[in-house]
Amino acid sequence: MFHPDYEIVIGLEVHCELKTKSKIYCGCTTEFGGEPNTHCCPICTGMPGTLPVINEKVVEYAIRAGLATDCQIAAFSKQDRKNYFYPDLPKAYQISQYDLPICYEGKVDIEVNGENKTIRLTRIHIEEDAGKLLHEAGEGTLADYNRCGVPLIEIVSEPDMRSQEEARAFLEKLRSILMFVDVSDCKMNEGSLRCDVNLSVRKKGQKEYGVRAEIKNMNSFSFAVKAMEYEAKRQIKVLEEGGKIIQETRRWDQDKGVTVSMRSKEEAHDYRYFPDPDLMPIVTSKERVDQIKASLPELPDSRKVRYMEQYGLSSYDATMFLISPRMANFFEVAAENSANPKTVANWIMGEIFRLLNEEEKEAAVIPFEPEMLSKLVNLIEKGAISNSVGKKVFEEMWNTGTDPEKIVEEKGYKQVSDEGQLTQIAEQVLANNPKIVEDYRSGKEKAFQSLVGQMMKATKGQANPKVVTDLLVKILSE
Ligand code: ADP
Ligand code: MG
Ligand code: ZN
Repeated sequence: MFHPDYEIVIGLEVHCELKTKSKIYCGCTTEFGGEPNTHCCPICTGMPGTLPVINEKVVEYAIRAGLATDCQIAAFSKQDRKNYFYPDLPKAYQISQYDLPICYEGKVDIEVNGENKTIRLTRIHIEEDAGKLLHEAGEGTLADYNRCGVPLIEIVSEPDMRSQEEARAFLEKLRSILMFVDVSDCKMNEGSLRCDVNLSVRKKGQKEYGVRAEIKNMNSFSFAVKAMEYEAKRQIKVLEEGGKIIQETRRWDQDKGVTVSMRSKEEAHDYRYFPDPDLMPIVTSKERVDQIKASLPELPDSRKVRYMEQYGLSSYDATMFLISPRMANFFEVAAENSANPKTVANWIMGEIFRLLNEEEKEAAVIPFEPEMLSKLVNLIEKGAISNSVGKKVFEEMWNTGTDPEKIVEEKGYKQVSDEGQLTQIAEQVLANNPKIVEDYRSGKEKAFQSLVGQMMKATKGQANPKVVTDLLVKILSE
């Protein structure tokens, strides 16, 4: 799809809001939304004379994320002021980390088209989020500081990705890890997870990286992928036409499907980082790190291997179920309680994923308990209902949350295997379709399937297909 002589190079900076109850330097709530400027106090609105005190949970969560991505944890780390003036940040600086981040040198393993690859992480640092600006027609720009001081971690990757598919796999894996270690809800529609895409291209075989563009603030993986596709093509075209790529910040225009320049490197801010004099260094003992490590749950990589071995899932299916802890737990409980875990997996992959749209999958709200899916699978496995009736039952479970056994009972969906009952129906069907019977007798094999079809129709799909087939063969040969 791209010019065959070129290679794409991608590095990502992922911002993730931590799920602490209170903000990073004050006691205000981190809850999403709320009336503008009601989740604020003098500290998070940057009043002169106030002093920040770090929320201990933020440090713990950052270390959890670091350990889950094989990072080194800094024994000594500090917080710095990143100075910039923009009205979404009333202090006129953001407290972040510059040269001594809390975590460094980690990695995330991904799998793309059956191939495994390791993406290195440069660092994970903690920082505070900024507020939001609302550009209201007629009213000018309004500032909502509710988000000011919500704790973030920024996860920076090395430029190790070579395609948008690898970038997407990295983002999905990272999100899965962050959700499993329970440091963030990773809700993309609420901006809890957003990323900046750094992308350059170079001729295959060339050693040095090309000049990169940075596409800011993507809050949807599919938009990020589209932006990468567009940006790679744009850069290749510029180079092919003899032009030069300039280092710049761009943004994705979803309506037009293009990236647009925001500012070039010459206009880039000089952030004048310096250590925040109001905050103590963050000193972390080895005991503390060990303690946090011991509290980590089973991580996605280990679960994936387990699902493949224990339930016979493909690597692809296993990865799909690890999209969120909620989905993974749903699968595990449904599989544990069923006679056939592989069939459970097929129902989730087929019906459930079809009904959950792309962006919902991460927070998937399935309207029934996993045990109900086990029951449905068990009903089919033991032949109480046919597969096609199973689909009807499933639909009703989805719409009403009713127990499948109850649905089968109330709707009289039980599979009919009784030979006497089916013989009566068969005789009726044959009597009503003399032409098809004749076709069959004169050697037209297809006619038989048509008779089976009539039988299924006459029993609303509830006849046991095996019994029907045997019965028809028997009657027709008489
Ligand atoms: P900045 O501080 O300006 O954002 P960094 O050097 O910290 O710059 O890099 C930020 C991100 O850009 C990292 O994720 C890194 O992997 C990526 N990156 C750096 N150079 C390139 C390049 N030539 N092509 C693609 N990505 C790059
Ligand atoms: Mg950057
Ligand atoms: Zn506050």
